[in-house]
Amino acid sequence: MDIGFIGLGNMGAHMARRLIEAGHKVIVYDTRQEAIGNLAGLGGVAARSPKEVADAAETVMVSLPTPDIVLKVATGPDGVIEGKRVRRFVDLSTTGSVMAQRIFKLLAAKNIVQIDAPVSGGVKGAEKGTVAVMASGPRADVEAVEPALKVIGKFFYIGERPGAGQTMKLCNNVLSAAAMAATSESMVVGVKAGLDPRTMVDVINASSGRSTASEQKFPDVVIPRKFNQGFTAGLMMKDVNLFVSEAKALGVPIEVCEAVAALLKLTCDEIGPEKDITTIVQPIEHRAGVEVRAPKA
Ligand code: NAD
Repeated sequence: MDIGFIGLGNMGAHMARRLIEAGHKVIVYDTRQEAIGNLAGLGGVAARSPKEVADAAETVMVSLPTPDIVLKVATGPDGVIEGKRVRRFVDLSTTGSVMAQRIFKLLAAKNIVQIDAPVSGGVKGAEKGTVAVMASGPRADVEAVEPALKVIGKFFYIGERPGAGQTMKLCNNVLSAAAMAATSESMVVGVKAGLDPRTMVDVINASSGRSTASEQKFPDVVIPRKFNQGFTAGLMMKDVNLFVSEAKALGVPIEVCEAVAALLKLTCDEIGPEKDITTIVQPIEHRAGVEVRAPKA
């Protein structure tokens, strides 16, 4: 199958590579020439614009940072919408259901079907093809791209309604963010009280408080002070803010998740939106005057 792939960052580069390795012809584009070069080196075909990608493939996938960038790449000048061959636009980014529906309508006017298929499982999951893929859109069109999505990860069909996959993704990510935020507070309290953080995660992971934060992010990334999970605090803040707006539109109270959004904003203001999501522990550490790291032998 000929597949266009736009957005070759932390996630997209691995997903595009997996599609090439599975035998697809993959036409690639990114605003970073270096990213295009890397994929071309693996057998991808370089393109010079989203339109050129959409001239060459019936199915165009994107993995882009923000909803506004997805909108621009999909429907702006020189965008996918102007392509001669494209019939399906598959959005693997976290874009939110409101924007997914808007893009669905704009593309439908040109007989292009938008499918939202956001993913979860991190950069390692993208590398290994184990991310959860949450697809929604017209069933026949989703079925047409299902084999390719199964190369990217574990496929779930969420429903016909455009944006349903996006809502599913936000409901998941807010839990990931909340676990990271709450585990950060818990670990800083334990360390300030004199506990060894390595013992703490061992106990938590054998107990009821465990989560992806205690099982992987603290032992692998925070305690060794690497802060290289591969997902930025800025992107997580975007996801949690999208969740907050969807919850408000539905009239659901979400006080816990709003507190998580506030801690993410503090992290972006004080540490930086381009820094890793795991730096969310640092504003708490700074105020407590301790660091969650292994004590010196
Ligand atoms: P990233 O910033 O590493 O990659 C985005 C890529 O898009 C970059 O290579 C950038 O150069 C490119 N880009 C930006 N503007 C562009 C444009 N106008 N045209 C073409 N390319 C453009 O981001 P990421 O971490 O790979 O995340 C991508 C999406 O996947 C986001 O929506 C994110 O929320 C979601 N996501 C990320 C993770 C993760 O762990 N990193 C996990 C699940 C979902």
